[in-house]
Amino acid sequence: MILLSPEPRAAIAAHAEAEFPNEACGLLLGQRDGAEVFITEAVASANIADEPRRRFEIDPGLRLRLQKAARKGGGQIVGHYHSHPNGAARPSETDRAGIFEADLVWLIAAVVNGRLANLAAFLPQAGGGGFDDVALRIGH
Ligand SMILES: [Zn+2]
Repeated sequence: MILLSPEPRAAIAAHAEAEFPNEACGLLLGQRDGAEVFITEAVASANIADEPRRRFEIDPGLRLRLQKAARKGGGQIVGHYHSHPNGAARPSETDRAGIFEADLVWLIAAVVNGRLANLAAFLPQAGGGGFDDVALRIGH
């Protein structure tokens, strides 16, 4: 199960709505406890993809900075988020082709007409090739 605090949920919604009709993306910080993941912070990234209306790419410099901060006691990188402008909160074919790390949570925000419509969580399947749905709960 993924537990998402209200603050990062609000931050993801605001970022995804502000970037509409482009895809917004960012990194998720928190802790892992076995199969449970607690997301306590969402850090917005620039979307550096060539076609930001159809793809996302997180700034590698941001990731590096957060990894350094994590070693000094900051939150661990437990996943990332991105939005689907006028799309569904489901992994796209592009997303399936873009799985590189099996242990990161994917949060996908559907933004319809500029407003957050749905938020869902997924984990890459161990064998590769697809995603499993994961229950997402908002709370502390
Ligand atoms: Zn996507």
